[in-house]
Amino acid sequence: LVSRKKKQEDTLIQLGNTIIGGGTPVMIAGPCSVESYEQVRQVAAALKEAGITVMRGGAFKPRTSPYDFQGLGVEGLKILKEVASEFGLKTISEIVDPAHIELACEYIDVIQIGARNMQNFELLKAAGDVQTPVLLKRGLAATIDEFVHAAEYIVSRGNTQVMLIERGIRTYEKATRNTLDISAVPILKQETHLPVLVDVTHSTGRKDILAPCARAALAAGADGVMVEVHPDPATALSDAAQQLNIPEFHDFLANVKKSGLL
Ligand code: PEP
Ligand code: MN
Repeated sequence: LVSRKKKQEDTLIQLGNTIIGGGTPVMIAGPCSVESYEQVRQVAAALKEAGITVMRGGAFKPRTSPYDFQGLGVEGLKILKEVASEFGLKTISEIVDPAHIELACEYIDVIQIGARNMQNFELLKAAGDVQTPVLLKRGLAATIDEFVHAAEYIVSRGNTQVMLIERGIRTYEKATRNTLDISAVPILKQETHLPVLVDVTHSTGRKDILAPCARAALAAGADGVMVEVHPDPATALSDAAQQLNIPEFHDFLANVKKSGLL
């Protein structure tokens, strides 16, 4: 169902006045984790000022260590909803439990399925049973074929509103957190009709190369880029090393826009 052979026209995801997949690339930004109302509010104000319409923020955090911050859970979704309505933004947040999918639809505009859950088939099925758009991340070591099949799980249940996001894959290379597979972008665009985005934060894990990687993603045909922004990254409860602060985010955006690709 997700194959270009089955359907030639691009799938469009409409979030308010923003259309993803229609030829105008979108920048999605926000904190790694929702930590407090005030923290999300500061980011939302900066996004609004920059003309960004879609904000991300994790409420359920799939952390490598059980001792690390696990997220605010439903409380985090409530904060996102409150701040989003105040600033007129659309929201994306990761859901990790199939039992939370329906509840999530009441609070957020896009359900993110994280890299670690790309092949959590019960979660994919639950996301396929609602009509809320889904942002599906590529698995840590998933082939493009496995990624496409994961999307097929969602669409085959009836939810056609699926976006794919390349977030880097595990390789032997240590210079970046993961290896950004730019070639996945044109391949996924050719082989599927779904919007394709690139998460520059989790793929690189380093702030100094976010702008060139975002430009590369857009040059390769990506429908959007996702980046993490935090008012005070040094104190962030997750991904402290790689989130942009607000002035850095404005510089990043200006740099990407200078390319004429965004
Ligand atoms: C995230 O985007 O918050 C996240 C945890 O990313 P990933 O699933 O790609 O590791
Ligand atoms: Mn993160």
